[in-house]
Amino acid sequence: MRYALSLADKAECLGEIPVGAVLVDSEGNILGEGWNFSITENDPTAHAEIVALRNAAKKVQNYRLLNTTLYVTLEPCTMCAGAILHSRIQRLVFGASDYKTGAVGSRFHFFDDYQMNHKVEITGGILAQECSEKLSAFFKKRRQQKKQEKINSSKDLY
Ligand SMILES: [Zn+2]
Repeated sequence: MRYALSLADKAECLGEIPVGAVLVDSEGNILGEGWNFSITENDPTAHAEIVALRNAAKKVQNYRLLNTTLYVTLEPCTMCAGAILHSRIQRLVFGASDYKTGAVGSRFHFFDDYQMNHKVEITGGILAQECSEKLSAFFKKRRQQKKQEKINSSKDLY
């Protein structure tokens, strides 16, 4: 999770929402990593989890990512929960809860509602405080920037 947090920093450097994800195999080897890329790539699906899963699947040359664990700093949304299910990862570990769009218990209960043969083991709340503080600091900074931009643009009028 510490490593996923460092990937979240990479997203923040790009002005993206700081979320990081890393997929490891049963021995702890990194198969794929990702961070939010949606704004930079004009890609609404480029969430950290999706990017990590794509990279890993390419690396192992298989669309099934059996016996792997995905670490992500924020509770996945419904899109990512769907991708997690389709990729057949074994275990999902996430940091902060997402009360707006979280699909793993905060807003939706994707894995409970969506009954399939494949069951994902889920652990939430790992380094939750650090993960969530990173996000709130980012949004606070962004609000201040927007406010400053507004002040600057209103100055231009006079
Ligand atoms: Zn997502």
